[in-house]
Amino acid sequence: MSAGERLAAVRGKLGELSLDAFLVLGAENRRYLSGFTGSAGGLIITPDRAFLATDYRYLEQVQTEAPGFTVLKWKNRPGEVLAQALGPGPHRLGFEKEILTCGEFERIKAAAAEVELVPVEGLVENLRAVKDADELGAIREAAALVVSVWERVPALLREGRGEAEAALDLEFELRRAGSEEAPFQIILASGPQAALPHARPGGRRLARGDVVILDVGAVRRGYASDFTRTLVVGPAESRHRELHQIVVQARDAAVAKVAPGVKAAEVDRAAREVIAAAGYGEAFGHGLGHGVGLAVHEAPRLTAESADVLAAGMVVTIEPGLYIPGWGGVRVEDMVLVTPDGCEVLTPLPTDLVEL
Ligand code: ZN
Ligand code: ZN
Repeated sequence: MSAGERLAAVRGKLGELSLDAFLVLGAENRRYLSGFTGSAGGLIITPDRAFLATDYRYLEQVQTEAPGFTVLKWKNRPGEVLAQALGPGPHRLGFEKEILTCGEFERIKAAAAEVELVPVEGLVENLRAVKDADELGAIREAAALVVSVWERVPALLREGRGEAEAALDLEFELRRAGSEEAPFQIILASGPQAALPHARPGGRRLARGDVVILDVGAVRRGYASDFTRTLVVGPAESRHRELHQIVVQARDAAVAKVAPGVKAAEVDRAAREVIAAAGYGEAFGHGLGHGVGLAVHEAPRLTAESADVLAAGMVVTIEPGLYIPGWGGVRVEDMVLVTPDGCEVLTPLPTDLVEL
């Protein structure tokens, strides 16, 4: 979708929800609709106008990044500019329910008594779930970048190296290869630490026989990638192989399910059934996956409770895992693009257990 089409989609929702305007404060939503990449600002979208409010630091930047928007200067409080954008009231103003803070809500009410604040859920997030060609190009680059540095990973994970040290080296490799920033802190969890699904790399040194969960991503043109493999320092033992095989089978079963029109919860179930049938149902406590785009975690959600339905153009992760307290864990994560007739894996690296 072009910038104009994105705004048109928001305006269509204004009509449906009987809103006079929609206030956008979420960083990714703001960037998606306006192109503005700064750290602070708000959009006010009305049926026929589009305002971008930002502070002194960004007044020049917005001229080039968001040329279609009327720029308003603020000190970062929506209440300062509502009257300017909306004119005399009353108005029904939609806002992002999951983003506007309680404090800001109260300040807007105090500053603009004639504005009725209407909580709206997922309006821009749902648009963002389906990627256009430009977005897909950026996501493909971010995924390819991780794939391109992966061959250097074994050299970084030598026995005796500290987790944090190895993670930092990998981050340098990714940045040098063209990643704009780290989309999230690398998860490099070794030995018993690998039982923590989101462990931070710490001072632990890699030892022979350790299982290592490595979860990394890159960013290109604002779009993220997200990828995990499990490795073993030295030769794998039978338990490593057994658990890893279960996870890969769960991953394969889920990938085989992905297609337009399929419920996200069904894809989650496909993986969960494989793990439960192997007797490890309790060891897979998190959701199967999530959408990836301007945010690393975004719509749709691939969980047992999700009401989302997959559509062509969505990019999601498939990341089943098993976590055994005191022993460690195994996770395999790939990014897939939902295509008109199924899916395409965007991180096409072998899913084999890697022995270092
Ligand atoms: Zn990940
Ligand atoms: Zn993920």
